[in-house]
Amino acid sequence: MKIFAVLGNPIGHSLSPQIHNYVIKKLQLDAIYIKLLLPLDINSGFLRKFLLDSDIDGVNITIPFKEVAFNATNQNIGISQQAQAINTILKNDGNLIGYNTDVLGFQKCLEKYSVKSALIIGAGGSARSVAIALKTMGVKSTIVNRSSKKLDFFKSYGKAILSKDIEIRQYDVIVNATSASLSNILPLEKAILKNLFLESKLVFDLAYLKDETIFCSLARECNIQCLDGRDMLIIQGAMSFIYFHKLDIAMLDNIVSYMRDSLI
Ligand code: NDP
Repeated sequence: MKIFAVLGNPIGHSLSPQIHNYVIKKLQLDAIYIKLLLPLDINSGFLRKFLLDSDIDGVNITIPFKEVAFNATNQNIGISQQAQAINTILKNDGNLIGYNTDVLGFQKCLEKYSVKSALIIGAGGSARSVAIALKTMGVKSTIVNRSSKKLDFFKSYGKAILSKDIEIRQYDVIVNATSASLSNILPLEKAILKNLFLESKLVFDLAYLKDETIFCSLARECNIQCLDGRDMLIIQGAMSFIYFHKLDIAMLDNIVSYMRDSLI
């Protein structure tokens, strides 16, 4: 039996085991997918040794380890090189191979909307994927973060500034790429967010919870459509599933549809 897992901290909220195990059962594969909580202070060396010493065949990586994971592998494929952040690792003949399926996940969620400008709140591993996807789509982005350390990466993806310097203006989409929703906190002051929402067309919270996130609740109060992270979870998850089980890419739409069913 093959073993797959999602690694993160926190990890309790993750729906990845539910969507992966449902498709494993549907396709009658000999595999299981579990969730594992890792200590917050791990480095790339620890993650690499942990994966190589374990019986795990592949993992998804979530908050806050996507950049640490990038440096734990032997090789990173495709767009993950640009992001320097990965959410999928496959073990192959004693080597760890990294992939980024978040860029595709975010891009597919947004492609049916007409978006020319974006505000990205957050500068972690997932914000990188969002910035890359938006640049590919020709969208002009402003990236804000509460602290400066991680902002450098974003300078080639738009205007990268501290949250305290944010300017209230019109953005077609406002993306919450912070983990604040997982602690039921807004990533910016409520009054500032409200003013931004009132000027925008669409709001996107990468996080998802059992109930509506506080970010999406505020958008609803402002009568603005909010997408939460479920659809992105499904698309990035389906692409990871293809890599994990070495399936043909032609199966992507079927897997997406099974994963959607798993959440009903
Ligand atoms: P990281 O830990 O890499 O980054 C977290 C970011 O959030 C940092 O910019 C951090 O700022 C900021 N942040 C954390 N708490 C607050 C707060 N209270 N107020 C303002 N900013 C805050 O996490 P990831 O990038 O991996 O994940 C971010 C979110 O995206 C998570 O909620 C995750 O679940 C979600 N996600 C969802 C996916 C999906 O498929 N739906 C895929 C990927 C991610 P600082 O740098 O100052 O610490």
